[in-house]
Amino acid sequence: MDYNTILNQIYREVQPWIEQGKVADYIPALADVPLNKFGMVVRMNSGMEYSVGDSDESFSIQSISKLLSLTMVHTKDQSVINQRVGVEPSGNPFNSLVQLEYENGIPRNPFINAGALVMADCMLSLYDNAQQELLNMFRKLSGNNLISFDPVVANSEREHGYRNYALVNFMKSFGNIHNNIDDVVDLYFNQCSVKMSCTDLARTFSFLANRGMCIDGDIITDVSQTKRINAIMLTCGTYDAVGNFAFEVGLPAKSGVGGGIVAVIPNHMTIAVWSPGLDRNGNSLAAIKALELFTTYCGNSIF
Ligand code: GLU
Repeated sequence: MDYNTILNQIYREVQPWIEQGKVADYIPALADVPLNKFGMVVRMNSGMEYSVGDSDESFSIQSISKLLSLTMVHTKDQSVINQRVGVEPSGNPFNSLVQLEYENGIPRNPFINAGALVMADCMLSLYDNAQQELLNMFRKLSGNNLISFDPVVANSEREHGYRNYALVNFMKSFGNIHNNIDDVVDLYFNQCSVKMSCTDLARTFSFLANRGMCIDGDIITDVSQTKRINAIMLTCGTYDAVGNFAFEVGLPAKSGVGGGIVAVIPNHMTIAVWSPGLDRNGNSLAAIKALELFTTYCGNSIF
């Protein structure tokens, strides 16, 4: 397969989609990101990498960070899934409060904001210095020691994150948050603010395509944990559009409101795409289009 030619073809074809979306201006610091960006990286399990466009430019990974917090919690305490958070799609927007009331403060899955806040709470209970250990893990998995939190984005979320404060308070009232509320939201806002490029992301999450083995050869997740995390990505990873994403793209993936998407072809490759313009569900318009073209041109999806 000539991946360079395929990526260049995709780059040409997504141009009309790139400026059609809208940046996530509900986080004011993200409103300044130029719309006309597009990067894509394909990393094979062999280590070969193919890229096009702004693939080495860092952006705010936002919800893609939830993939790592889920991994770090699930590998330490498997009881969290099912007891404190479910694995079903919510059918509601990612920051919705409504289901929590009649489902007794148990979020539907670890990728909606409520679920990710429970994961942040678990991180605080399971790790001595959760923020630093999360950052260390990002650096190890990507092989990039420069990865860090972006204090401007984290502060912007802190100042405007009324819904996240509401979610965490509400879940605390049901007993599903064990730590101090300010510590939980602080970790959550910091993890969402992490800046990475498509190259960093494709390297970081390549363990999910490689039966748990990361780029330095260490095993991060066993085969069963890898399967479970990929399954949650497939059913809950792209907000309230997972059905359409599976239909169009056919891969487990996790998106973020910074415009990034990481997708996995188990046993083969990891793909990271970024373009800041979002559709009404919060997924990058051009990144979804690029992934759809990729699986179509390669004739390769999980189905
Ligand atoms: N930090 C964002 C929020 O809490 C994450 C949203 C996302 O990327 O889904 O609203």
